[in-house]
Amino acid sequence: MAINKTGTDCCGCTACAAVCPKDAINMVADPMGFKYPKVDYDKCIECGLCEKTCSFTDSYKTPDNFSQPIPYGARLKDINQLMKSRSGGAFVAFSDWILDKGGVIYGAGYKGHFIVSHKRAINSEQRDEFRGSKYVQSNLDEIFRAVKTDLEAGLWVLFSGTPCQTSGLQSFIPEKLKEKLVTVDIVCHGVPSPQIWQDYIHYLEDKERKFVIGVEFRDKKRFGWKAHKETITLAEPQTTVSTDIYTHLFFKNIMHRPSCGECKYCNIRRPADLTLADFWGWEKTGSHINDDDKGLSLVFVNTPKGKNIFDTVSDRFYVIQTSIENCMQSHLKSPTKLNPLYIEFANDYAAHGFKYVLRKYGNVGIRHKAKTALSLIKRIPLVIIRLFK
Ligand SMILES: Cc1cc2nc3c(=O)[nH]c(=O)nc-3n(C[C@H](O)[C@H](O)[C@H](O)COP(=O)(O)OP(=O)(O)OC[C@H]3O[C@@H](n4cnc5c(N)ncnc54)[C@H](O)[C@@H]3O)c2cc1C
Repeated sequence: MAINKTGTDCCGCTACAAVCPKDAINMVADPMGFKYPKVDYDKCIECGLCEKTCSFTDSYKTPDNFSQPIPYGARLKDINQLMKSRSGGAFVAFSDWILDKGGVIYGAGYKGHFIVSHKRAINSEQRDEFRGSKYVQSNLDEIFRAVKTDLEAGLWVLFSGTPCQTSGLQSFIPEKLKEKLVTVDIVCHGVPSPQIWQDYIHYLEDKERKFVIGVEFRDKKRFGWKAHKETITLAEPQTTVSTDIYTHLFFKNIMHRPSCGECKYCNIRRPADLTLADFWGWEKTGSHINDDDKGLSLVFVNTPKGKNIFDTVSDRFYVIQTSIENCMQSHLKSPTKLNPLYIEFANDYAAHGFKYVLRKYGNVGIRHKAKTALSLIKRIPLVIIRLFK
C-alpha cells in the first residue's frame, strides 16, 4: 500500500518521497503552501517503503536517547555572535564544530524572494543564513537525499530543523550511515503557512511601494529577546518597518500546518541529538545571565553523541545548570491548540486571498479597530470601579 496521508496525519517531512525507489511520490502544495505526498500509481510498485518510513506516529524512534534529556541554559560568550542568533546562539557553536571537521550544515535559509527553504552550507558565511528563527514551514525539496549523499561520501553532517523534519530524516537515513550525522531540533510552537508568508511580503511591497530586501521575524537587536516583533527592510531608499501583523496571525494559531495540532514531538523525548529552544523561565534558576535580555538558549542534550559535542564546545558558552522541571514550557508538554477557525481561515484564504483573511482575522482594518474599541469600552466600568476602590 502506498502512503495516503493528508491533513493532520502528515507533517510534510518528505521522508516518504525521498525513500521511494521509483520516484513515484511528489510533494504537492495545497493553497496554503503546505506540501503533501501525491503518489503516481503508474510508477508505484507497492513496496510499502513510504508507509514504513513515515515517522509522524507516536512510536517514532529514539534508540540512543538518555532516559531524560540533560538540560542547560547556554549563551555564547562572544556578544557579536550572540546578537546574530535568535536565542543564545547554541546552534552556531554546534555547527562550527562540524565545519571545523570539514563537514556540512543543513538548516533553514531563503531561496528566491524570501521563500523559507532548507539549504546546504559548507562554510560559516553560508551557515549564517540559517541563523534566526523563520516562523514558516521550510521547504525541504531534495534535502534528505542530499544529506544521504554527503554521509555516503564520509562527511560529517549537521541537520537542524523542526522535530518532525528531524524525525523524518532519522527514519530515512539507514542506520549504517548515521555515525557522522548530528541532528539538532527546536522546540516548536508550530509552522505557519509558506503561502501566507509570501503574500505578506507582497502585501508590504504593495503598501510601501518598495521591494523587501531583508526580514527579521523577531528583531532581537531593536526590541530585545523577549519581544516578538518583526522588522522588514525595504528599498529604495532603504527604510525599515517594524510591525506585529504577521506575528499576530502566528499567535492566533490560525495559519499553522494542520498536523501541528496533533504534533507527536511536544514532549521531552526528542528525535535529535541536541534540542534548542528559548529558555523561558530562566529566572527560576536564580542566575542573572540574561538580565540584559540579549538571549539565552535552552539546550537539551539527548544522546551520547550530543553530549560529546556539547562538552567539547561548552567553553564557548556561559552555561547554567538547570532541571527539567525548571525549563518546561507548553510546547514540551502538548501540541499547540489550533484556532477553532483554522479551517474557515484556510477556506476563506483559498476563496478570497490574503487581504481578505488579513482584514477578517488579522490586526488591521476597520473590523479589528472596531473590535479593539469595543473591548476597551467594555473595560471602562471595571477601570472606574478599580479607581474608586
Ligand atoms: C517555527 C518555529 C517555532 C518555534 N517555537 C518555539 C517555541 O515554541 N519555544 C521555544 O522555546 N523556541 C521555539 N523556537 C526556537 C527558537 O526560536 C530558536 O530558533 C532556537 O532557540 C534556536 O536558537 P539559536 O540562537 O541557537 O539559533 P540560531 O543561531 O538563531 O539559528 C536558528 C536555528 O533554527 C533553525 N530554523 C530557523 N527557522 C527554521 C524553520 N522555519 N524550520 C526549521 N528550522 C528552522 C535553523 O536551521 C537554525 O538551526 C521556534 C523556532 C521556529 C523556527
